[in-house]
Amino acid sequence: MRFLNMLLISLFVNLIIAQENFHDTIWEFNRHEIAVGDHLYALMGATALLGEEGAIIKDATIIIKGNRIMEIGSSGSVDIPAGAEKLDLSGKFILPGMLDAHFHEGKVKDLLPKFLAQGVTSLRDPGAWNESYLGWRKLGAPIQRLFLTGPHLDQYPPAYPLNSMLVRDAREAEFAVNDFIDEGATAIKVYFRLPLGTIETICQTAHSRGVPVTAHLEITKAKDAIKVGLDGIEHITSFGTSLIHPRDAEKYKQLILADNNARRKGRYEVWKSVDLQDTFYLNPLLKLLRENGTFVSPNLAVFEKQPDQGDSIEVEGFARMLEFTGMIDRAGGNIVVGSHTFVPYAELGLGYAHEMELLVQAGMTTGKVIEAATIQNARFFRVEERLGSLAKGKLADLVVLSSDPLENISNIRQVEKVMLNGVWVK
Ligand SMILES: [Zn+2]
Repeated sequence: MRFLNMLLISLFVNLIIAQENFHDTIWEFNRHEIAVGDHLYALMGATALLGEEGAIIKDATIIIKGNRIMEIGSSGSVDIPAGAEKLDLSGKFILPGMLDAHFHEGKVKDLLPKFLAQGVTSLRDPGAWNESYLGWRKLGAPIQRLFLTGPHLDQYPPAYPLNSMLVRDAREAEFAVNDFIDEGATAIKVYFRLPLGTIETICQTAHSRGVPVTAHLEITKAKDAIKVGLDGIEHITSFGTSLIHPRDAEKYKQLILADNNARRKGRYEVWKSVDLQDTFYLNPLLKLLRENGTFVSPNLAVFEKQPDQGDSIEVEGFARMLEFTGMIDRAGGNIVVGSHTFVPYAELGLGYAHEMELLVQAGMTTGKVIEAATIQNARFFRVEERLGSLAKGKLADLVVLSSDPLENISNIRQVEKVMLNGVWVK
């Protein structure tokens, strides 16, 4: 009996160690290519926005040693080590380097450095071959921490042929998931044609390796996908079919299955018809999102339609998307920030800031939006032990702003300096 107890304890301990090791596997693709800071800095006098909702330290002192935050506190409470280079940042605001949950690579000059200069120090591309970042990694200029997923797992005919791998059954999907994770993928992205059984196998395979799965749903019900294990949902439009009469959802699904492009106009028609006063479909969905802690990356900026570029169906449909995003937040759901990179109402590089502005328009507080950009995304990426907040021991990714983003979220555009891994980005 005693032997059996010992055996069980040892199995349990091993399981915990194994889980910790899995956690360790979530490292950026380019971790060995990012310069490591070798300086000792004392950043003094700024207001530090810690990353957790609304939490701030006024007149903060932050000690950076190498690539880590060695100490952080109010000015009187932190000893400044001998030899530290003191930087007076009074009147400035410091927040953790931001993470972009939905970045798309494009062959555009300086694309990654442009986002880095805006304080986006980590990005996840949900749906590109891992090889597509090779050029950026050889750029010579600093680029963000890259969290890659491999291409979309999809079925014929794929929405984006060049960025998709077709998996014809669950077994093929299992192999694909393992291959991408072997290459260094830190999440898996599933696309809307995949049947639920295949999504389930993908989730099981990825989870067995400590990797989360995120999806563009569009025609799959969110509740079903969450039930089979989905961790994250990309695009607010992924919820349309969960919020309308199942007969209308089925009609939309059949249109999309016949023609992927039917979603471009169709999704606005769906959203215009969503009744957010009617709690029948709404409340169970909000409850499910809260209870499962599903991460939602709305990508509002890419769906934005204002009267200058959209007809009344699109403008009204987009207004509902905004409203529903605010509802998820108020219901206790986990909203994160994903820029989608190329968006109609922001110049290149400012899509991330604009997404944050739209989240405030959706009804989130500025503090909540900063949390969504930092620690919430770090949790979604499963790197919250190293990134996403200003705290002792975390990696020194940070952003210095000249004005207060808690007062006005658009001040997030007023970037003065960015530090990546303990090194000021030029
Ligand atoms: Zn996308």
